[in-house]
Amino acid sequence: MSEAPAEIVREDVMHEGKAKIIYLTSATDVLIQYFKDDATAFNGKKKGTIVNKGVCNNDISSHIFSLMEKDDIRTHFIEKLSEREMLVKRVEIIPVEVVVRNVVAGSLAKRMGRETGEVLPEPIVEYYYKDDALGDPMINRNHIRIFHLAKDDEMDHVQKEAYKINDWLKAFFDKIGITLVDYKLEFGRSGDEILLADEISPDGCRLWDKETGDILDKDRFRQDLGKEPETYEEVRRRALSVS
Ligand code: UDP
Repeated sequence: MSEAPAEIVREDVMHEGKAKIIYLTSATDVLIQYFKDDATAFNGKKKGTIVNKGVCNNDISSHIFSLMEKDDIRTHFIEKLSEREMLVKRVEIIPVEVVVRNVVAGSLAKRMGRETGEVLPEPIVEYYYKDDALGDPMINRNHIRIFHLAKDDEMDHVQKEAYKINDWLKAFFDKIGITLVDYKLEFGRSGDEILLADEISPDGCRLWDKETGDILDKDRFRQDLGKEPETYEEVRRRALSVS
């Protein structure tokens, strides 16, 4: 984590995604991630809003990234700027979504014909090509190398980091009574370094309450389970209790 220059000013929109807007700033190597309340599911086919989701996700992600940095996990996080804004290092996003799974759910249950909830004997790491128009198809290390999405040594590093991050995140959520079922990570290049980027929030994770089994993530929105704002608030409350 580095200190933010005091005079950084928000400038033009660089990219607007489904849940965040990325702004350029007066510093060329620094961007602002702005967290929206917009929620989408099923590759954008279902749209809605979850009141205060952006505020919760910024808080949860900022807290997790700053704790990770203390434990030598390198991220793009610089500092939380405001309720919905996070200052981040500018990275070149590797167009590969890294999904890590500890428990069978979602597309894995479907693909393998397994019961949701089956605990995996070891984590599964999967790769998806980050391309909305194609619906983020699953790919492997050969596709990544042959289509020049990333170099082999970069992916060796990403894979090692994914396992390290998984150990860290599993322990973090365990402390607050949550099972980390599965989640998506994104990484980016910054000079010679590869940094964990994007966000870590209930939007991109499956989180189940360890005691009640309650769903504490975006699946509430996907499945119309209700109480979405309260759920994001609850994850925020628990996450921020970890120091
Ligand atoms: N995920 C995500 N963005 C995506 C695809 C997946 O954040 O574009 C997350 C999702 O929230 C879940 C995990 O990655 O925590 C695994 O998702 P899965 O492959 O099971 O797909 P889904 O069931 O969400 O379609």
